[in-house]
Amino acid sequence: MTKPFNPFEMAQAQFDRVADLLGLDQATRELLRWPLREYQFAIPVRMDDGTVRVFRGFRVQHNDARGPNKGGIRFHPNETLDTVRALATWMTWKCAVVDIPLGGGKGGVVCDPHQLSLREQEAICRGWVRQLSKNVGYLQDVPAPDVMTNPQHMLWMMDEIEVLHGQKEPGFITGKPVGSGGSLGRTEATGYGVIYTVREALRLLGLDPASMTASVQGFGNVAQFAVQLFTQYGGRVVCVSCWDHADRTSYSFRRPSGITYEELIGITDRFGTVDKLKAKTLGYEILPGDAWIEQAVDVLIPAAIENQVTADTARRIHQKVKLVAEGANGPTTPEADAILQERGIYVIPDFLCNAGGVTCSYFEQVQGNMNFFWPKHEVLERLDAVMTRAFHAVADLAKTKQLYTRDAAYVIAINRVANACRLRGWV
Ligand code: NAD
Repeated sequence: MTKPFNPFEMAQAQFDRVADLLGLDQATRELLRWPLREYQFAIPVRMDDGTVRVFRGFRVQHNDARGPNKGGIRFHPNETLDTVRALATWMTWKCAVVDIPLGGGKGGVVCDPHQLSLREQEAICRGWVRQLSKNVGYLQDVPAPDVMTNPQHMLWMMDEIEVLHGQKEPGFITGKPVGSGGSLGRTEATGYGVIYTVREALRLLGLDPASMTASVQGFGNVAQFAVQLFTQYGGRVVCVSCWDHADRTSYSFRRPSGITYEELIGITDRFGTVDKLKAKTLGYEILPGDAWIEQAVDVLIPAAIENQVTADTARRIHQKVKLVAEGANGPTTPEADAILQERGIYVIPDFLCNAGGVTCSYFEQVQGNMNFFWPKHEVLERLDAVMTRAFHAVADLAKTKQLYTRDAAYVIAINRVANACRLRGWV
């Protein structure tokens, strides 16, 4: 039997590889291989039918040497402590590689929002905050949305902390609705950030974004805005895929002439599931869920979940593919990395590629602290500047030191965090 995929083991393997490369001392290694703090707790919720269900909640704070921890909260039926540990670790590297003054955190609740009423979801949000009210906050750890959580969940959480503390705390959480402390551009930020880095990588490879084709895994928040901006730059997205909750399987939707963003959004639910029947009538072919990876395109954008580009699937990547832009966290296994590297496919690693979300969350904190909100174009211009600068720092290091791009990004991030730990006298 094959061993089940463990994202934290993968995050540690990626770290170890670069720790060796950097010749990192033993104490720093031990400190950065593991989270600083972990919380596990129960959230009892009275359900709509009068019974009480107990949900498991997590928060992991990986490293806060560079500033308060920052990271999303995921609602997922398969959430595990190791997934949260991995995501918290990647958040530390993500904030460091784009050089924003925050550390790495992540949280989650084992639940499936599809099976819960809004009232039950609100109770979980408020319960999560009650369990952690002493350990989170704008000076310690600032949560945000992630998979299957949204601005409404964030507002319920903020409201709960304000009730508990008896004061306004807009800096407690980010990803809030616009008009209730949220930043314009936050919804678009991760997907647009992915495409800012894709644009720069294509230029570096001497390719024109306007003549490129792409295939995307996922059609949720990240994928939707990546598709939108890729298309705005003149590129053509020929395939997207999504998970179908009713059928408990995934499908790919292909239309060689290119998908139309507005059209596809119109037949997609709030969980990023495209309606198969309606898609068929619009001329989309419905293919198996993993067909997105074998399309004859220039750019692949995994923007769904972890462990998708594996030793197995990477071998099916078409020879036309020049670039893999990791919108999702942890989509590529170390075995697949070796294959991509050997084939000379340019990889924009996850914690750089999808850092637009946390960067805009940081902007939300800055605006909230000033109580002065910027227009959308200003948010997106600042975001583009941060992503472009971070991309070129990684690309330059990869070129000068002949490093794989993921390793180059890790070298920059780990060096920054290790240095902050040293300056504080922790190691
Ligand atoms: P989402 O819940 O909005 O969308 C997820 C999409 O992936 C949906 O379309 C879903 O149907 C699809 N999907 C799930 N499993 C699939 C499978 N097996 N095959 C094909 N499609 C599948 O989530 P999101 O916010 O877009 O996040 C996507 C990824 O990006 C996650 O890895 C998340 O951690 C990462 N990320 C998100 C943000 C953000 O700001 N939203 C920021 C950084 C990283």
